Amino acid sequence: MNTMNKPRVVVLGAGFGGLELSTLLSETFGDGVDVTLIDKSDAFVFGYSKLDVMFGLTTFDAVRLPYRNFVKSGVRLLRQTVTAIELDRRRVTTNGGTYEADFLIVALGAEYDMDATPGLAEANEFYTLAGAERLRDVLPTFNRGKALIGVCGAPYKCPPAPSECALMLHDYLINRGVRDACEDGARKVAILDDGAEMPFDLFLGVPKHRVPSVVVDSGMAEDGWIPVNPRTLETKYPGIYAVGDGANTGTPKAGVFAEGAARAVASDLIAKLRNSGKATEYNGFGTCYIEFGGGRVGKVEVDFFSGPMPTGTYYEPSVAMRADKENFGSSRRVRWFGM
Ligand SMILES: Cc1cc2nc3c(=O)[nH]c(=O)nc-3n(C[C@H](O)[C@H](O)[C@H](O)COP(=O)(O)OP(=O)(O)OC[C@H]3O[C@@H](n4cnc5c(N)ncnc54)[C@H](O)[C@@H]3O)c2cc1C
Repeated sequence: MNTMNKPRVVVLGAGFGGLELSTLLSETFGDGVDVTLIDKSDAFVFGYSKLDVMFGLTTFDAVRLPYRNFVKSGVRLLRQTVTAIELDRRRVTTNGGTYEADFLIVALGAEYDMDATPGLAEANEFYTLAGAERLRDVLPTFNRGKALIGVCGAPYKCPPAPSECALMLHDYLINRGVRDACEDGARKVAILDDGAEMPFDLFLGVPKHRVPSVVVDSGMAEDGWIPVNPRTLETKYPGIYAVGDGANTGTPKAGVFAEGAARAVASDLIAKLRNSGKATEYNGFGTCYIEFGGGRVGKVEVDFFSGPMPTGTYYEPSVAMRADKENFGSSRRVRWFGM
């Protein structure tokens, strides 16, 4: 522990995982623990908001939750870019300084490897906010021909999102009265890894994902992702955990699972810092909402760990379910940002 006797927890990435972990530590310890949360961005955005931006249902400004509103006792949030992680010393370097940790949590998510798919940079993708914004202007010009939703690599965030995109596009084209014309034509072609060709006029891409390069450079990734104990989220480096999209837990890359993993890490840190109690392990359970178009939302509850195989319960889409999804977002907005 450090000389001031305040344990130092450094959390890299203020996404679903980092925000929830920092919030739980603040709720438990207040300023009794020194939590440093580092993110290169100035705002958090729910992944699903990108679909809403793309289809013109909301705006870029409306979906940004500025980090200046994340105010928690004991937590300082720094807008800096992590440039190096030294695993043996639990030391992090950013463009603004150097931070040493008693406990280090890597919650940097996944980034997109645009170069892995030749042509993708010139086509459209909807997994970044900038890409979703560009598509908001492209979609009104798509009046005939074929649209192709292309997943350029697995694993990728939010497994239902490409299907949600297809269902919302169907609905969008019906509303514009051009759905029937959007079947034939096709002036361009996508080539699959088995050599098959798929013609299209409008490409809606999901880029290949990878861990951020700073994680690769640290040496903690194996086979592309960070190996962890899936129940405790501990890496093989003492005092270092990984949660969320970057960690290889066996659960999907989705905010709800990042949050569940963060809860398990918080529980472990609380037990360790109090030197009492038993941590609650990550249960691999998550609820996902799925857009079906026409304002309808479906839901799946998936349990990855409690049986020999993952199990799930599916709830048929309905307009009424939208309130559940909105509550999912607004409850986090209030909890993390007080807004
Ligand atoms: C179209 C779409 C729809 C989705 N829908 C849903 C949904 O309905 N439900 C759901 O649960 N999930 C959904 N997701 C997935 C969800 O957004 C992610 O799985 C979730 O955000 C992962 O949380 P995380 O904490 O691992 O990483 P993130 O939330 O991605 O946070 C990582 C943070 O690290 C920061 N960072 C990265 N590198 C650096 C660096 N070098 N220095 C400093 N900071 C850095 C980033 O700025 C980012 O804020 C969707 C995603 C997309 C793209």
